[in-house]
Amino acid sequence: MTSIPSLTSNQEKNLVTDLQQWALANSLIIYPPDFKSYQPVVAPVTLYPTPFSRIAFEQANEVQLAYNELYIKVTNDQDFLLGIIDELSHFDQEFTGKLYQTYLKAKEIGIKQNLKLGIFRSDYLVEGSEIKQVEFNTVSVSFGGLSTKVGQVHKFLNNIGNYDPESKGQLYYKEEDLPVSNSIEALAKGLADANYYYNGEIYKTDTIVLTIVQEGERNVFDQRLLEFELLSKHGIKSKRLSLSQIELETFVDSNTSKIFLKSTGEEISVVYFRAGYAPSDFQNEADWNARLILETSLAIKGPDLVTQLAGAKKIQQILTDEEILSKFIPNNSEHYQKLLKSFVKIYPLDDSELGKKGKSLAFETPEKFVLKPQREGGGNNVYKSDIPGFLKSLSEKEWSAYILMELINPSTFVNKIIRNDQVLKNEIISELGIFGVVLFDDKEVKVNENAGWLLRSKFSSSNEGGVAAGFGAVDSIQLV
Ligand code: ADP
Ligand code: MG
Repeated sequence: MTSIPSLTSNQEKNLVTDLQQWALANSLIIYPPDFKSYQPVVAPVTLYPTPFSRIAFEQANEVQLAYNELYIKVTNDQDFLLGIIDELSHFDQEFTGKLYQTYLKAKEIGIKQNLKLGIFRSDYLVEGSEIKQVEFNTVSVSFGGLSTKVGQVHKFLNNIGNYDPESKGQLYYKEEDLPVSNSIEALAKGLADANYYYNGEIYKTDTIVLTIVQEGERNVFDQRLLEFELLSKHGIKSKRLSLSQIELETFVDSNTSKIFLKSTGEEISVVYFRAGYAPSDFQNEADWNARLILETSLAIKGPDLVTQLAGAKKIQQILTDEEILSKFIPNNSEHYQKLLKSFVKIYPLDDSELGKKGKSLAFETPEKFVLKPQREGGGNNVYKSDIPGFLKSLSEKEWSAYILMELINPSTFVNKIIRNDQVLKNEIISELGIFGVVLFDDKEVKVNENAGWLLRSKFSSSNEGGVAAGFGAVDSIQLV
Protein backbone atom coordinates (compact mmCIF):
# COMPACT_ATOMS: atom_id res chain seq x y z
CA MET A 1 0.00 0.00 0.00
CA THR A 2 1.20 3.49 -0.79
CA SER A 3 0.88 5.98 2.03
CA ILE A 4 0.40 9.63 1.15
CA PRO A 5 3.49 11.40 -0.18
CA SER A 6 5.49 13.71 2.06
CA LEU A 7 5.74 16.96 0.18
CA THR A 8 7.33 20.28 1.07
CA SER A 9 4.81 23.00 1.78
CA ASN A 10 5.61 24.56 -1.59
CA GLN A 11 5.08 21.31 -3.42
CA GLU A 12 1.79 20.80 -1.61
CA LYS A 13 0.70 24.31 -2.49
CA ASN A 14 1.32 23.60 -6.18
CA LEU A 15 -0.55 20.33 -5.89
CA VAL A 16 -3.56 22.00 -4.29
CA THR A 17 -3.60 24.77 -6.90
CA ASP A 18 -3.51 22.20 -9.69
CA LEU A 19 -6.32 20.26 -8.05
CA GLN A 20 -8.45 23.37 -7.63
CA GLN A 21 -7.95 24.64 -11.16
CA TRP A 22 -8.61 21.22 -12.70
CA ALA A 23 -11.75 20.98 -10.53
CA LEU A 24 -13.04 24.38 -11.64
CA ALA A 25 -12.26 23.69 -15.28
CA ASN A 26 -13.95 20.28 -15.24
CA SER A 27 -16.97 20.71 -12.98
CA LEU A 28 -15.78 19.06 -9.78
CA ILE A 29 -17.76 21.83 -8.11
CA ILE A 30 -20.65 22.66 -5.81
CA TYR A 31 -22.45 25.85 -4.77
CA PRO A 32 -21.50 27.25 -1.35
CA PRO A 33 -24.21 28.23 1.17
CA ASP A 34 -26.03 31.45 0.13
CA PHE A 35 -24.66 31.21 -3.39
CA LYS A 36 -25.05 33.38 -6.42
CA SER A 37 -25.74 31.43 -9.61
CA TYR A 38 -22.32 32.36 -11.06
CA GLN A 39 -20.28 31.43 -7.99
CA PRO A 40 -19.54 27.74 -7.43
CA VAL A 41 -16.62 26.47 -5.35
CA VAL A 42 -14.45 23.36 -5.59
CA ALA A 43 -16.37 20.42 -4.06
CA PRO A 44 -14.92 19.03 -0.82
CA VAL A 45 -12.46 16.40 -2.04
CA THR A 46 -9.52 14.43 -0.77
CA LEU A 47 -6.11 15.47 -2.01
CA TYR A 48 -5.04 11.85 -2.56
CA PRO A 49 -6.79 8.64 -3.54
CA THR A 50 -7.45 6.39 -0.53
CA PRO A 51 -6.19 2.78 -0.35
CA PHE A 52 -9.03 0.30 -0.80
CA SER A 53 -8.93 -3.50 -0.82
CA ARG A 54 -9.05 -4.82 -4.37
CA ILE A 55 -10.89 -7.91 -3.13
CA ALA A 56 -13.50 -5.83 -1.31
CA PHE A 57 -13.94 -3.57 -4.34
CA GLU A 58 -14.55 -6.63 -6.54
CA GLN A 59 -16.95 -8.12 -3.99
CA ALA A 60 -19.01 -4.92 -3.91
CA ASN A 61 -19.17 -4.66 -7.69
CA GLU A 62 -20.05 -8.34 -8.03
CA VAL A 63 -22.91 -8.33 -5.54
CA GLN A 64 -24.65 -5.32 -7.13
CA LEU A 65 -26.64 -7.30 -9.69
CA ALA A 66 -27.89 -9.52 -6.86
CA TYR A 67 -28.99 -6.46 -4.88
CA ASN A 68 -30.67 -5.00 -7.97
CA GLU A 69 -32.51 -8.29 -8.46
CA LEU A 70 -33.49 -8.48 -4.80
CA TYR A 71 -35.02 -5.00 -4.78
CA ILE A 72 -36.82 -5.62 -8.08
CA LYS A 73 -38.41 -8.70 -6.51
CA VAL A 74 -39.29 -6.92 -3.27
CA THR A 75 -40.87 -4.05 -5.22
CA ASN A 76 -42.89 -6.53 -7.27
CA ASP A 77 -44.10 -8.42 -4.18
CA GLN A 78 -46.55 -5.74 -3.15
CA ASP A 79 -48.34 -7.90 -0.56
CA PHE A 80 -45.08 -8.35 1.32
CA LEU A 81 -43.74 -4.84 0.86
CA LEU A 82 -46.88 -2.82 1.39
CA GLY A 83 -47.89 -4.95 4.38
CA ILE A 84 -44.73 -3.82 6.14
CA ILE A 85 -45.04 -0.22 4.91
CA ASP A 86 -48.67 -0.09 6.08
CA GLU A 87 -47.57 -1.04 9.59
CA LEU A 88 -44.62 1.34 9.52
CA SER A 89 -46.92 4.16 8.43
CA HIS A 90 -48.61 4.15 11.82
CA PHE A 91 -45.30 4.93 13.54
CA ASP A 92 -44.01 7.39 10.94
CA GLN A 93 -47.15 9.13 9.75
CA GLU A 94 -45.31 12.28 8.84
CA PHE A 95 -43.28 10.80 6.00
CA THR A 96 -43.45 7.05 5.30
CA GLY A 97 -47.19 7.40 5.97
CA LYS A 98 -47.53 10.29 3.51
CA LEU A 99 -45.60 8.47 0.79
CA TYR A 100 -47.80 5.42 1.30
CA GLN A 101 -51.03 7.47 1.31
CA THR A 102 -49.94 9.13 -1.91
CA TYR A 103 -49.31 5.71 -3.44
CA LEU A 104 -52.79 4.52 -2.34
CA LYS A 105 -54.39 7.60 -3.91
CA ALA A 106 -52.44 7.01 -7.12
CA LYS A 107 -53.63 3.42 -7.19
CA GLU A 108 -57.22 4.55 -6.78
CA ILE A 109 -56.87 7.02 -9.64
CA GLY A 110 -55.04 4.40 -11.70
CA ILE A 111 -51.34 3.80 -12.31
CA LYS A 112 -50.82 3.89 -16.08
CA GLN A 113 -47.13 3.07 -16.37
CA ASN A 114 -45.97 -0.44 -15.45
CA LEU A 115 -42.28 0.15 -16.09
CA LYS A 116 -40.22 1.35 -13.13
CA LEU A 117 -36.75 2.88 -13.25
CA GLY A 118 -34.50 2.19 -10.29
CA ILE A 119 -31.31 4.19 -9.89
CA PHE A 120 -29.84 2.58 -6.81
CA ARG A 121 -26.74 2.89 -4.65
CA SER A 122 -25.66 0.23 -2.19
CA ASP A 123 -23.28 1.61 0.46
CA TYR A 124 -20.59 -0.35 2.30
CA LEU A 125 -17.88 -0.05 4.89
CA VAL A 126 -15.04 -2.55 4.76
CA GLU A 127 -14.24 -4.61 7.83
CA GLY A 128 -11.08 -6.68 7.44
CA SER A 129 -11.33 -7.23 3.71
CA GLU A 130 -15.08 -7.94 3.76
CA ILE A 131 -17.68 -5.49 2.53
CA LYS A 132 -20.52 -4.86 4.97
CA GLN A 133 -23.61 -3.05 3.79
CA VAL A 134 -24.50 0.24 5.50
CA GLU A 135 -27.69 0.89 3.59
CA PHE A 136 -29.43 0.44 0.25
CA ASN A 137 -30.71 3.62 -1.40
CA THR A 138 -33.54 3.54 -3.93
CA VAL A 139 -34.21 7.24 -4.40
CA SER A 140 -32.24 10.33 -5.29
CA VAL A 141 -28.79 8.78 -5.05
CA SER A 142 -26.13 11.42 -5.47
CA PHE A 143 -22.46 11.93 -6.42
CA GLY A 144 -22.48 9.79 -9.57
CA GLY A 145 -21.37 12.91 -11.43
CA LEU A 146 -18.65 14.13 -9.07
CA SER A 147 -17.33 10.60 -8.50
CA THR A 148 -16.12 10.31 -12.09
CA LYS A 149 -14.51 13.74 -11.79
CA VAL A 150 -12.60 13.09 -8.58
CA GLY A 151 -11.15 9.91 -10.08
CA GLN A 152 -10.05 11.93 -13.08
CA VAL A 153 -8.43 14.71 -11.05
CA HIS A 154 -6.43 12.25 -8.93
CA LYS A 155 -5.27 10.52 -12.10
CA PHE A 156 -4.33 13.89 -13.57
CA LEU A 157 -2.28 14.89 -10.53
CA ASN A 158 -0.56 11.51 -10.61
CA ASN A 159 0.16 11.69 -14.35
CA ILE A 160 1.68 15.16 -14.28
CA GLY A 161 4.00 13.96 -11.52
CA ASN A 162 2.69 16.29 -8.80
CA TYR A 163 2.37 13.55 -6.20
CA ASP A 164 6.10 12.90 -6.52
CA PRO A 165 7.79 16.01 -7.95
CA GLU A 166 11.33 14.72 -7.31
CA SER A 167 11.00 11.33 -8.99
CA LYS A 168 11.57 12.65 -12.52
CA GLY A 169 8.97 10.69 -14.41
CA GLN A 170 8.22 7.82 -12.07
CA LEU A 171 4.51 7.92 -11.14
CA TYR A 172 3.68 7.88 -7.41
CA TYR A 173 0.65 5.58 -7.91
CA LYS A 174 0.55 2.86 -10.53
CA GLU A 175 -1.78 3.94 -13.31
CA GLU A 176 -3.74 0.66 -13.19
CA ASP A 177 -4.35 1.00 -9.44
CA LEU A 178 -6.44 4.15 -9.89
CA PRO A 179 -9.82 3.17 -11.36
CA VAL A 180 -12.18 5.92 -12.54
CA SER A 181 -15.90 5.43 -11.96
CA ASN A 182 -17.97 5.34 -15.15
CA SER A 183 -21.03 6.58 -13.25
CA ILE A 184 -21.69 9.66 -15.42
CA GLU A 185 -21.85 7.51 -18.52
CA ALA A 186 -23.74 4.63 -16.92
CA LEU A 187 -26.37 6.68 -15.07
CA ALA A 188 -27.07 8.80 -18.17
CA LYS A 189 -27.42 5.57 -20.13
CA GLY A 190 -29.99 4.39 -17.57
CA LEU A 191 -32.08 7.51 -18.22
CA ALA A 192 -31.68 7.03 -21.98
CA ASP A 193 -32.78 3.39 -21.67
CA ALA A 194 -35.91 4.47 -19.82
CA ASN A 195 -36.65 6.98 -22.60
CA TYR A 196 -36.20 4.18 -25.16
CA TYR A 197 -38.62 1.81 -23.42
CA TYR A 198 -41.15 4.59 -22.82
CA ASN A 199 -41.27 5.05 -26.57
CA GLY A 200 -42.03 1.38 -27.25
CA GLU A 201 -38.40 0.40 -27.76
CA ILE A 202 -37.84 3.09 -30.34
CA TYR A 203 -34.88 5.44 -30.19
CA LYS A 204 -36.54 8.86 -30.00
CA THR A 205 -35.13 12.25 -29.06
CA ASP A 206 -38.27 14.38 -29.04
CA THR A 207 -39.36 13.19 -25.61
CA ILE A 208 -37.53 14.64 -22.61
CA VAL A 209 -36.37 13.73 -19.11
CA LEU A 210 -37.77 15.77 -16.23
CA THR A 211 -35.45 16.03 -13.22
CA ILE A 212 -37.25 16.86 -9.97
CA VAL A 213 -34.95 19.06 -7.90
CA GLN A 214 -34.85 20.74 -4.51
CA GLU A 215 -35.16 24.49 -4.44
CA GLY A 216 -31.80 26.02 -3.60
CA GLU A 217 -29.98 22.73 -4.36
CA ARG A 218 -26.22 23.21 -3.93
CA ASN A 219 -25.13 19.89 -5.45
CA VAL A 220 -26.39 20.99 -8.88
CA PHE A 221 -23.33 20.20 -10.96
CA ASP A 222 -23.34 16.56 -9.88
CA GLN A 223 -26.82 16.37 -11.43
CA ARG A 224 -26.11 18.50 -14.49
CA LEU A 225 -23.16 16.33 -15.50
CA LEU A 226 -25.68 13.53 -16.09
CA GLU A 227 -28.01 15.83 -18.04
CA PHE A 228 -25.18 17.09 -20.25
CA GLU A 229 -24.08 13.51 -20.96
CA LEU A 230 -27.67 12.56 -21.76
CA LEU A 231 -27.83 15.30 -24.39
CA SER A 232 -24.37 14.90 -25.89
CA LYS A 233 -24.35 11.08 -26.02
CA HIS A 234 -28.02 10.29 -26.52
CA GLY A 235 -29.53 13.49 -27.93
CA ILE A 236 -32.11 13.62 -25.14
CA LYS A 237 -32.98 16.96 -23.51
CA SER A 238 -33.71 17.46 -19.80
CA LYS A 239 -35.79 19.96 -17.90
CA ARG A 240 -35.40 20.73 -14.20
CA LEU A 241 -38.42 21.55 -12.02
CA SER A 242 -39.13 21.53 -8.30
CA LEU A 243 -42.28 19.84 -6.99
CA SER A 244 -43.86 23.24 -6.40
CA GLN A 245 -43.51 24.09 -10.12
CA ILE A 246 -45.20 20.96 -11.47
CA GLU A 247 -48.78 22.19 -11.54
CA LEU A 248 -47.83 25.46 -13.16
CA GLU A 249 -45.32 24.16 -15.70
CA THR A 250 -46.77 20.82 -16.85
CA PHE A 251 -50.08 19.41 -18.01
CA VAL A 252 -51.45 15.91 -18.32
CA ASP A 253 -53.59 14.77 -21.24
CA SER A 254 -56.57 13.15 -19.56
CA ASN A 255 -57.10 10.60 -22.34
CA THR A 256 -53.56 9.28 -22.59
CA SER A 257 -52.13 10.35 -19.18
CA LYS A 258 -49.11 11.62 -21.08
CA ILE A 259 -47.44 14.54 -19.32
CA PHE A 260 -46.09 17.56 -21.21
CA LEU A 261 -44.21 20.78 -20.57
CA LYS A 262 -46.53 23.75 -20.96
CA SER A 263 -43.81 26.03 -22.29
CA THR A 264 -42.73 23.90 -25.26
CA GLY A 265 -45.36 21.17 -25.51
CA GLU A 266 -42.62 18.56 -25.20
CA GLU A 267 -43.63 15.14 -23.90
CA ILE A 268 -41.94 13.89 -20.72
CA SER A 269 -40.82 10.26 -20.96
CA VAL A 270 -38.95 9.94 -17.65
CA VAL A 271 -39.27 11.68 -14.28
CA TYR A 272 -35.96 11.47 -12.46
CA PHE A 273 -36.22 12.28 -8.74
CA ARG A 274 -33.34 14.15 -7.12
CA ALA A 275 -35.81 15.41 -4.51
CA GLY A 276 -38.73 13.93 -2.60
CA TYR A 277 -36.74 11.73 -0.20
CA ALA A 278 -37.06 13.91 2.91
CA PRO A 279 -40.01 15.54 4.73
CA SER A 280 -38.58 19.01 4.03
CA ASP A 281 -38.86 18.37 0.26
CA PHE A 282 -42.63 18.69 0.68
CA GLN A 283 -43.52 22.19 1.87
CA ASN A 284 -47.29 21.82 1.64
CA GLU A 285 -50.16 19.72 0.32
CA ALA A 286 -49.62 21.14 -3.17
CA ASP A 287 -46.18 19.49 -3.25
CA TRP A 288 -47.71 16.14 -2.28
CA ASN A 289 -50.29 16.67 -5.00
CA ALA A 290 -47.49 17.31 -7.49
CA ARG A 291 -45.96 13.99 -6.49
CA LEU A 292 -49.37 12.37 -7.12
CA ILE A 293 -49.68 13.98 -10.56
CA LEU A 294 -46.29 12.57 -11.54
CA GLU A 295 -47.09 9.13 -10.13
CA THR A 296 -50.33 8.83 -12.12
CA SER A 297 -48.83 10.18 -15.36
CA LEU A 298 -47.64 7.85 -18.10
CA ALA A 299 -44.00 8.92 -17.71
CA ILE A 300 -41.61 6.32 -16.26
CA LYS A 301 -40.68 7.32 -12.73
CA GLY A 302 -37.14 6.89 -11.43
CA PRO A 303 -38.24 5.73 -8.90
CA ASP A 304 -42.00 5.26 -8.51
CA LEU A 305 -43.34 5.43 -4.95
CA VAL A 306 -43.30 1.66 -4.38
CA THR A 307 -39.64 1.37 -5.39
CA GLN A 308 -38.83 4.35 -3.18
CA LEU A 309 -40.62 2.72 -0.23
CA ALA A 310 -38.66 -0.52 -0.79
CA GLY A 311 -35.59 1.47 0.30
CA ALA A 312 -36.96 1.86 3.85
CA LYS A 313 -34.42 0.89 6.51
CA LYS A 314 -37.08 -1.38 7.98
CA ILE A 315 -37.11 -3.40 4.73
CA GLN A 316 -33.31 -3.65 4.85
CA GLN A 317 -33.58 -5.08 8.37
CA ILE A 318 -36.25 -7.62 7.40
CA LEU A 319 -34.26 -8.82 4.39
CA THR A 320 -31.36 -9.85 6.64
CA ASP A 321 -33.63 -12.67 7.88
CA GLU A 322 -32.40 -15.77 6.00
CA GLU A 323 -35.84 -17.25 5.57
CA ILE A 324 -37.28 -14.06 4.13
CA LEU A 325 -34.27 -13.50 1.90
CA SER A 326 -34.64 -17.02 0.51
CA LYS A 327 -38.19 -16.22 -0.59
CA PHE A 328 -36.73 -13.73 -3.04
CA ILE A 329 -33.36 -15.24 -3.90
CA PRO A 330 -33.03 -19.06 -3.90
CA ASN A 331 -30.87 -20.12 -0.97
CA ASN A 332 -28.82 -22.53 -3.08
CA SER A 333 -27.69 -19.72 -5.41
CA GLU A 334 -24.43 -17.84 -5.52
CA HIS A 335 -26.33 -14.55 -5.26
CA TYR A 336 -27.88 -15.63 -1.96
CA GLN A 337 -24.51 -16.42 -0.41
CA LYS A 338 -22.99 -13.14 -1.58
CA LEU A 339 -25.88 -11.11 -0.21
CA LEU A 340 -25.82 -12.89 3.11
CA LYS A 341 -22.07 -12.33 3.48
CA SER A 342 -22.53 -8.58 3.03
CA PHE A 343 -25.02 -8.19 5.90
CA VAL A 344 -24.33 -7.31 9.50
CA LYS A 345 -26.90 -8.09 12.17
CA ILE A 346 -29.87 -5.75 12.24
CA TYR A 347 -32.57 -6.05 14.91
CA PRO A 348 -36.13 -4.77 14.95
CA LEU A 349 -37.33 -3.22 18.22
CA ASP A 350 -40.82 -4.68 18.24
CA ASP A 351 -42.67 -7.53 19.97
CA SER A 352 -41.19 -10.34 17.83
CA GLU A 353 -38.60 -12.72 19.33
CA LEU A 354 -35.81 -10.93 17.48
CA GLY A 355 -37.31 -7.61 18.56
CA LYS A 356 -37.12 -8.62 22.21
CA LYS A 357 -33.48 -9.54 21.73
CA GLY A 358 -32.90 -6.19 20.03
CA LYS A 359 -34.47 -4.34 22.93
CA SER A 360 -32.28 -5.99 25.52
CA LEU A 361 -29.11 -5.52 23.42
CA ALA A 362 -29.90 -1.82 23.02
CA PHE A 363 -29.64 -1.43 26.80
CA GLU A 364 -26.99 -4.06 27.62
CA THR A 365 -24.37 -3.32 24.93
CA PRO A 366 -25.35 -0.07 23.21
CA GLU A 367 -21.70 0.63 22.35
CA LYS A 368 -21.93 -2.06 19.64
CA PHE A 369 -24.87 -0.46 17.83
CA VAL A 370 -26.32 2.39 15.83
CA LEU A 371 -30.06 3.15 16.02
CA LYS A 372 -31.74 4.32 12.81
CA PRO A 373 -35.13 5.86 12.09
CA GLN A 374 -36.90 5.66 8.70
CA ARG A 375 -35.15 8.65 7.18
CA GLU A 376 -32.70 9.35 4.39
CA GLY A 377 -30.05 11.96 3.84
CA GLY A 378 -27.80 11.86 6.89
CA GLY A 379 -27.76 13.20 10.43
CA ASN A 380 -30.65 11.09 11.75
CA ASN A 381 -28.90 8.23 13.53
CA VAL A 382 -28.30 7.70 17.25
CA TYR A 383 -25.02 6.11 18.25
CA LYS A 384 -23.78 3.91 21.07
CA SER A 385 -24.21 5.24 24.60
CA ASP A 386 -26.83 7.75 23.39
CA ILE A 387 -29.17 4.89 22.45
CA PRO A 388 -30.63 3.94 25.88
CA GLY A 389 -31.50 7.52 26.86
CA PHE A 390 -32.96 8.19 23.44
CA LEU A 391 -35.17 5.11 23.58
CA LYS A 392 -36.31 5.99 27.09
CA SER A 393 -37.48 9.37 25.82
CA LEU A 394 -39.95 7.56 23.51
CA SER A 395 -42.86 5.28 24.33
CA GLU A 396 -41.98 1.62 23.79
CA LYS A 397 -44.54 1.42 20.98
CA GLU A 398 -42.64 4.02 18.99
CA TRP A 399 -39.49 1.89 19.04
CA SER A 400 -40.99 -0.22 16.22
CA ALA A 401 -40.17 2.56 13.77
CA TYR A 402 -36.42 2.13 14.43
CA ILE A 403 -33.86 -0.52 13.57
CA LEU A 404 -30.85 -1.43 15.69
CA MET A 405 -27.80 -2.16 13.58
CA GLU A 406 -24.45 -3.63 14.56
CA LEU A 407 -21.65 -1.13 14.11
CA ILE A 408 -19.18 -1.91 11.35
CA ASN A 409 -15.54 -1.17 12.24
CA PRO A 410 -13.65 -0.06 9.14
CA SER A 411 -9.90 0.56 8.99
CA THR A 412 -8.77 4.16 8.94
CA PHE A 413 -6.25 5.77 6.61
CA VAL A 414 -4.49 9.10 6.63
CA ASN A 415 -5.46 11.53 3.90
CA LYS A 416 -6.00 15.26 3.45
CA ILE A 417 -9.37 16.81 2.82
CA ILE A 418 -9.61 20.07 0.92
CA ARG A 419 -12.40 22.42 1.87
CA ASN A 420 -12.17 25.86 0.34
CA ASP A 421 -8.79 27.24 1.46
CA GLN A 422 -8.23 24.63 4.16
CA VAL A 423 -6.12 21.49 3.80
CA LEU A 424 -6.98 19.26 6.72
CA LYS A 425 -4.87 16.20 7.49
CA ASN A 426 -6.42 13.44 9.56
CA GLU A 427 -7.44 9.83 9.85
CA ILE A 428 -10.39 9.11 7.62
CA ILE A 429 -12.91 6.35 7.11
CA SER A 430 -14.28 5.66 3.66
CA GLU A 431 -17.68 4.45 2.52
CA LEU A 432 -17.98 2.79 -0.89
CA GLY A 433 -21.23 3.12 -2.82
CA ILE A 434 -21.96 1.00 -5.89
CA PHE A 435 -24.51 2.38 -8.34
CA GLY A 436 -27.00 0.12 -10.07
CA VAL A 437 -29.61 0.80 -12.73
CA VAL A 438 -32.71 -1.33 -13.27
CA LEU A 439 -35.76 -1.02 -15.49
CA PHE A 440 -38.55 -3.51 -14.90
CA ASP A 441 -42.22 -4.28 -14.58
CA ASP A 442 -43.93 -7.16 -12.81
CA LYS A 443 -43.30 -9.51 -15.73
CA GLU A 444 -39.90 -8.68 -17.08
CA VAL A 445 -36.53 -7.14 -16.23
CA LYS A 446 -35.46 -4.97 -19.17
CA VAL A 447 -32.27 -3.61 -17.61
CA ASN A 448 -30.16 -4.74 -14.65
CA GLU A 449 -26.70 -3.18 -14.66
CA ASN A 450 -23.81 -1.92 -12.59
CA ALA A 451 -23.39 1.84 -12.99
CA GLY A 452 -20.07 2.80 -11.43
CA TRP A 453 -19.19 3.66 -7.87
CA LEU A 454 -18.49 6.38 -5.32
CA LEU A 455 -16.02 6.67 -2.46
CA ARG A 456 -16.86 9.19 0.25
CA SER A 457 -14.49 9.82 3.12
CA LYS A 458 -14.76 11.65 6.39
CA PHE A 459 -12.67 12.23 9.44
CA SER A 460 -13.08 9.51 12.00
CA SER A 461 -13.96 11.00 15.34
CA SER A 462 -12.66 9.31 18.45
CA ASN A 463 -15.74 9.69 20.67
CA GLU A 464 -17.95 8.00 18.14
CA GLY A 465 -15.40 5.39 17.11
CA GLY A 466 -15.04 6.56 13.58
CA VAL A 467 -18.72 6.83 12.87
CA ALA A 468 -19.56 10.44 13.52
CA ALA A 469 -20.26 12.46 10.43
CA GLY A 470 -17.21 14.67 10.22
CA PHE A 471 -16.10 16.60 7.19
CA GLY A 472 -17.31 14.53 4.25
CA ALA A 473 -15.45 14.59 0.95
CA VAL A 474 -15.61 12.81 -2.37
CA ASP A 475 -12.64 10.52 -2.79
CA SER A 476 -11.20 8.04 -5.25
CA ILE A 477 -9.68 4.60 -4.88
CA GLN A 478 -6.15 3.31 -4.89
CA LEU A 479 -6.59 -0.44 -5.26
CA VAL A 480 -4.35 -2.37 -2.86
P1 ADP B 1 -28.63 7.94 5.75
O1 ADP B 1 -29.87 7.45 5.09
O2 ADP B 1 -28.85 9.09 6.64
O3 ADP B 1 -27.51 8.12 4.76
P2 ADP B 1 -27.04 5.70 6.76
O4 ADP B 1 -27.62 4.38 7.14
O5 ADP B 1 -26.26 5.72 5.50
O6 ADP B 1 -28.23 6.75 6.74
O7 ADP B 1 -26.14 6.23 7.96
C1 ADP B 1 -25.42 7.43 7.89
C2 ADP B 1 -23.95 7.22 8.23
O8 ADP B 1 -23.82 6.59 9.50
C3 ADP B 1 -23.22 6.30 7.26
O9 ADP B 1 -22.75 7.01 6.14
C4 ADP B 1 -22.10 5.73 8.12
O10 ADP B 1 -21.01 6.63 8.19
C5 ADP B 1 -22.73 5.67 9.50
N1 ADP B 1 -23.25 4.31 9.74
C6 ADP B 1 -24.49 3.87 9.46
N2 ADP B 1 -24.62 2.57 9.78
C7 ADP B 1 -23.44 2.17 10.29
C8 ADP B 1 -22.94 0.94 10.83
N3 ADP B 1 -23.70 -0.15 10.91
N4 ADP B 1 -21.67 0.90 11.26
C9 ADP B 1 -20.88 2.00 11.20
N5 ADP B 1 -21.29 3.19 10.72
C10 ADP B 1 -22.55 3.29 10.26
MG1 MG C 1 -26.30 6.83 3.77
